[in-house]
Formats: sequence, structure tokens, C-alpha cells
Amino acid sequence: MKLWNGWGEEHTDYPIPEIAKEFLTERLGNFQDLPDAAKSDSINSVPESRLKPADFISTDPMDRFDHSHGQSLPDWIFMRSGQIPHITDGVTYPRSDQDIKKIFDFSRENRVTIIPYGGGTSVVGHVNPPEAENPVLTVDLSSFNQILEIDEISRAATIQAGMRGPDIEAELNKSGFTLGHFPQSFEYSTVGGWIASRSCGQQSYYYGRIEDLFRGGNILTPQGEIRLPAFPATAAGPDLRHLFLGSEGRFGIVTRAELQIRPIPQFERFFGIIFRNWEDGVAAVRQIAQNSIQVSMLRLSDALETETTLILSGRERLVRMATMGLSKLGYGRQMCLLILGVTGDKTAATRARKSAVQICRQHGGIFTGNMIGKAWQKSRFLTPYLRNTLWEAGYALDTLETAVPWSHVCQAKNSIIDSITESATNRQLRLLVFGHLSHVYRTGASIYITYLFRRSPIPDENFEHWRAVKKAASRAIIDQNGTISHQHGIGTDHADYLGNEIGEIGIKFLEEAVEYFDPDGLMNSRVLINTQGRKSPDNDDK
Ligand SMILES: Cc1cc2nc3c(=O)[nH]c(=O)nc-3n(C[C@H](O)[C@H](O)[C@H](O)COP(=O)(O)OP(=O)(O)OC[C@H]3O[C@@H](n4cnc5c(N)ncnc54)[C@H](O)[C@@H]3O)c2cc1C
Repeated sequence: MKLWNGWGEEHTDYPIPEIAKEFLTERLGNFQDLPDAAKSDSINSVPESRLKPADFISTDPMDRFDHSHGQSLPDWIFMRSGQIPHITDGVTYPRSDQDIKKIFDFSRENRVTIIPYGGGTSVVGHVNPPEAENPVLTVDLSSFNQILEIDEISRAATIQAGMRGPDIEAELNKSGFTLGHFPQSFEYSTVGGWIASRSCGQQSYYYGRIEDLFRGGNILTPQGEIRLPAFPATAAGPDLRHLFLGSEGRFGIVTRAELQIRPIPQFERFFGIIFRNWEDGVAAVRQIAQNSIQVSMLRLSDALETETTLILSGRERLVRMATMGLSKLGYGRQMCLLILGVTGDKTAATRARKSAVQICRQHGGIFTGNMIGKAWQKSRFLTPYLRNTLWEAGYALDTLETAVPWSHVCQAKNSIIDSITESATNRQLRLLVFGHLSHVYRTGASIYITYLFRRSPIPDENFEHWRAVKKAASRAIIDQNGTISHQHGIGTDHADYLGNEIGEIGIKFLEEAVEYFDPDGLMNSRVLINTQGRKSPDNDDK
């Protein structure tokens, strides 16, 4: 059963090894047992639904609580304290396009706001109900969970929008195929959510981002249905797929998508390479990307993330021995870990590994074999469970991300981390903050930042910490010419910053598009473009 106030399944655990507890205590202060709100109190505080009763709407308080948050740090603060600011008035589970049309009609007649809901894994406030005069209805697409067609010859599959990662892979694997879209939220996130938030899987370097996989599909908008045909390529005017990629549910509901698939790779391995310092690692990774070496993943951690990852691995003795050996070779506290993946035909993958390792060696990289890679692979979708353990031990964790050109990578990472540190210092907050390059491209890379702090027993204080850090980091990202989001999307938390990227005319165009597809204003009006505004970090009132 799914955990009601955290990440994942109830009985899946990610314990912290003793040495990691000591490390966190030293950096952030003592472990603290801070009790969370009881489930019964949280559910009892769910207000009366404002929706007109209908047989296709659930107003069950647990259902409504469950669908009123995503997985951002504010969401955690709200759900763990049992104080979710706004609870959806009802949840509906359509099974067909006809059901969705009925929901639009009901919403139009009764002035109801609609929020499409995939897996609820958003980390930027996408699925949170707005503070609205109108009742809110969450449209859970979990019944849209079938693969409708696999075209083996064209290597494409038509998949319903509510299908989750593991179900897609299980089904495709039966026919010898894979989608290869593996965001860390894979366990719960869905095709519709990936498209609507422009998601990026861990091996996008090989398989492509969702926009590379999305060939066409159907979208039911309040204005009517749009069918985007799946051509291998087209010069027939602007590509409307890109209007719906990243549309965050503002234009309507994606019901099905044709996605590119591949045969299950014959061979796949992940390896660890250690660099003396961050700059050497960045130079190597850039060269691999710019030389178009066909690896499948390049994930370069900075020194503090490397240290934290090794400590959390729990293999204390092995890590100590390896660290001692490496220090004799001049690899000290600044050493950085690269996880290199190769995927595909065995000969080509081996060739790619050799070429990549050769480049790494030119930059002082030491190839450590596949032990670290294996450990990463084993826990790649389990790591989010660490948030449960850390929270229960008294620590809050949050992540944020951007992408910048290679010429800015080192400076941007330092600047984001410095601004986060400074905002925390101003609040007398001790932080552990580190980063990695998670996805690389020819012209640049994404920077993914994680920070942890010892949480306060007062939820509002934790929220204010988050708000201050988010604001400082977002400002630093903009100052460094980074995008406000490489993969998480805009939601409500980034809505104030989108104008920096697309300008006034760009925002106006999106507003006009919303107006066209959703003339009666049925869809959630707070995400993507800020027409009402949740508590975004730049808004002063909480
Ligand atoms: C632990 C963790 C790890 C993560 N790792 C990654 C990662 O590696 N890469 C990455 O890209 N993201 C990652 N994310 C962010 C998140 O998983 C993605 O944004 C994901 O694409 C959201 O999918 P979802 O199905 O959960 O969508 P939801 O959270 O349910 O919704 C997201 C948005 O999409 C809209 N939407 C959902 N379904 C539809 C539909 N059918 N039609 C129209 N609109 C729809 C919603 O209204 C909302 O605006 C992570 C999140 C967590 C919590």
C-alpha cells in the first residue's frame, strides 16, 4: 500500500547506516525525533466538499487528501503536519474519452476547476489545488493504463496517458521492447505527466528526453479534441507537439500518446570513475559529449555529493580502504565521482566505454570498475525512499535544477550553491548542499542541486526556510543564464520566473493559447503562467 504521507510503498525501507547518521549529526546537528500529525487527525481535518454530488466523483476525505499534494518540500511539510492549505473537493477516475467530456460538461455547468493528475510526483506544485472560489475536481488518469498498440516494425507504441513507468516497461518487455524513459520517479509517474511537464529520464543521453520519444497523440481540450498525427518527420508548419509538451494541464488532458520504443538493449553496464576534482570531471564529461561518444549516462557528482554518496552506501570498510588507496595517489577530499553508463549492442557499448574511459584518463580519471555502478543501478529508484528515513530522523531534503551552457557550468554551480548557503546563513540555518551534472548535451549540461537541513518542529518555519532557499537559488539560476527548470517544469513554484525566459510576448502567447483551448477557464489556472499564484517564493504574503 502507498504511504499516505511520504514517498512510495509502506513497507519499502531505505535505512541510513550508522556512519551516515554520525556524518549528518556532525554537519547539521543532532538527530531529532519530531512527531508527525496522525493520519486520523489529518483526515478528520479535511473540510466538507463544495462539489455538487455526482456518481462519478469521490469525496472520500482520504482520497481528497491524497490528491491534494505532490512531492515537493512544501508538500512534505504540509502533509507531514497534516496541514495541507487547500484540499481538492473531489476526485474522479475517468475510464474513457467520453467520461472526460462529461467531466468538462459538469465543470462548465457547475463552475468547477479541473486538475489533471498522473502520478502526483510533481515537485513544483503542479497538482496542488488552488485557493479558489470554485470547487476543485482532481481528474486521476490511473484508469487510462493500457498499451493500445505496439507497432514493432516502426518501433512505436500507443500508450494511454495514465500508465506508469513499471507497467509500461513490463508490458513492452514482453514483446522485447523498452521505452527507456527512467526518471527517478519512474515507480509512480505517468506518460501524461511526463509529456505535460517535459520530463527527462536518467538515460536520456541514449534514449532521448520525453520530447524526443513523443511522436504524436490525442489531447482532449475543453475546446475540443486535438489529434497530433505521428509522422516520422514533417515540414507541415510549426510542430504542435511542442505546444502540449510542458503544457502542465493548462490546455486540456492528454489521453494517449504514440511513443518511440527500442528493442531491449543486449548489454548494459554502469561504471565508476574518480577524478581529482570537479573541474577535471567537467572537462572530461564535456569532451565525451562533444565528441558524440555513444554512452547512455554521464552523472558527475561534486566532492561533497561524492563523499555523501559513499557514506550513505553503508560499505564503510570498503569505502575507507578505497579512500586511503586513492589519497596515496593524490585523490583527496576534492575527488568527484562520475557514473558512466553504456547501453546497447555489446560491441558498440564496449567501444563507447573504452573511448569514454580514455578521455577520462586524459583528465586524470581513475576507472574503478562496475562496483559503484552496480550499487547505483540497484538503488536508482529506491533513493527517493531515503527522504522518508531522513525526514523521520529530523532532516528535510529538497532538490532543484537548471541547465546552462558548458561555458557557465562551473561558475553556475558555485554561484547557486553560494546563494543557497548565504540565504541559509542569514536564517541561522545549517545546510548540507551539493550537486551533480545529471544530463549532458553538446552545448551544456543540467545542474542538479540537493540540500538538507535539520527541520524545525514548527512547520511554518520549515516552509520559510524552503521559501528563502528557493528564492535565492532561482535568482542565482537566472543571473547565470540558466533555465528555471531542466526537467521538473514550472508548476506554481517557478511561474514567476518563466517570463525571464520567454519574455512578455511569450507569456502573452501562452495566455492567448490558454484562452483559446480553455475559454471557460476550467483548467487549473495557477500552473505554468501565474494568473493567480500559489505561494511562490517571490510572493511576499504566505
Ligand atoms: C523522487 C522524485 C524523483 C523525480 N525524478 C525526476 C526525474 O528524474 N526526471 C524528471 O523529469 N522528473 C522527475 N521528477 C519530477 C516528476 O516525477 C515529473 O515531473 C513527472 O513527469 C510527473 O509525472 P506525474 O505523472 O507524476 O505527473 P503529476 O505530478 O500527476 O502532474 C504533473 C503535471 O502534469 C499534468 N498532467 C498529468 N497528467 C496529465 C495528462 N494526462 N494530461 C494533461 N496534463 C497532465 C498535471 O496536471 C500537472 O500539471 C521527480 C519527482 C520525484 C518526487
